[in-house]
Amino acid sequence: MFATLSDRLSATFKNLRSKGRLSEADIDATIREIRRALLDADVAVPVVREFAGTVRERALSAEVSQALNPAQQVVSIVHEELIAILGGQQRPLHLAKNPPTVVLLAGLQGAGKTTLAGKLARHLREEGHTPLLVAADLQRPNAVTQLQVVGERAGVPVFAPHPGASDDGTVPEEGRRWWERSKKADPVAVARDGVEEARAKQYDVVIVDTAGRLGVDAEMMQQAADIRDAVHPDETLFVVDAMIGQDAVTTAQAFSDGVGFTGVVLSKLDGDARGGAALSVASVTGRPILYASTGEKLTDFEVFHPDRMASRILD
Ligand code: GDP
Repeated sequence: MFATLSDRLSATFKNLRSKGRLSEADIDATIREIRRALLDADVAVPVVREFAGTVRERALSAEVSQALNPAQQVVSIVHEELIAILGGQQRPLHLAKNPPTVVLLAGLQGAGKTTLAGKLARHLREEGHTPLLVAADLQRPNAVTQLQVVGERAGVPVFAPHPGASDDGTVPEEGRRWWERSKKADPVAVARDGVEEARAKQYDVVIVDTAGRLGVDAEMMQQAADIRDAVHPDETLFVVDAMIGQDAVTTAQAFSDGVGFTGVVLSKLDGDARGGAALSVASVTGRPILYASTGEKLTDFEVFHPDRMASRILD
């Protein structure tokens, strides 16, 4: 991800460095190239506009004209402003004063929620927490089993209503009966019972996996909102597939209006998408990116550092 954007920005800066003093025209030409590179990388238009405006204003100020190396100063400004649109400081998970901390995962189907649930559980366990995973995605027959598989790999227990389908997605006879019943099972009740279980057994973080749909729809939003109201999450994390480009921003806005969230997780950052989603979501929603998911393995997971991501882009 970001390969093309990085190349374009580094070509722009190389050009800039070849100049000594910078005229207003040099700065404007640079801003135009940065703006085009960001738009071509699928960064949302309002984010590009604000970014370009701020960089231009700062690049034309005394901070640059009086600098020993004006081109380097412009690069530093771009770096700082990239950090700002990525959310500024790294933001840790908010832990509840009275455990368990409840973390609700929301997002479209296929966004990477269930995978992320396992990765986050593993990460928290390594940090010395005692997490519990809760399978409140009852839409897909194998979602519960999938969570049980990642839970086992992560070494973290899973609270699930009943045994689910088998690993290959088929539903065995006994599972099928369960599945028929569970379609009537209430994901809100499962989520609530899961949090109760965590409280009773003294797990200190509960991660609730919820159902997604292929597209945003009212029923799905309502279910996520009902679960939110039942479990009072300390964090609601919106998991978004960085590969979906511009759609990431509209999806984020729909979830922001429908459920509300306190933080973002970018998944599939290992893909070769142009990266605009990653660069837009924090700025558009005003919510920080807490984690990034970078592959299918449980260890393909990073705490998101805006400054490191900005450096990677400008590398
Ligand atoms: P959910 O429907 O939101 O629970 O999504 P899943 O966790 O089931 O993920 C959907 C698909 O994306 C699965 O095939 C995952 O293996 C894959 N996946 C999830 N996260 C990542 C990631 O960070 N990188 C890559 N390459 N694939 C991922």
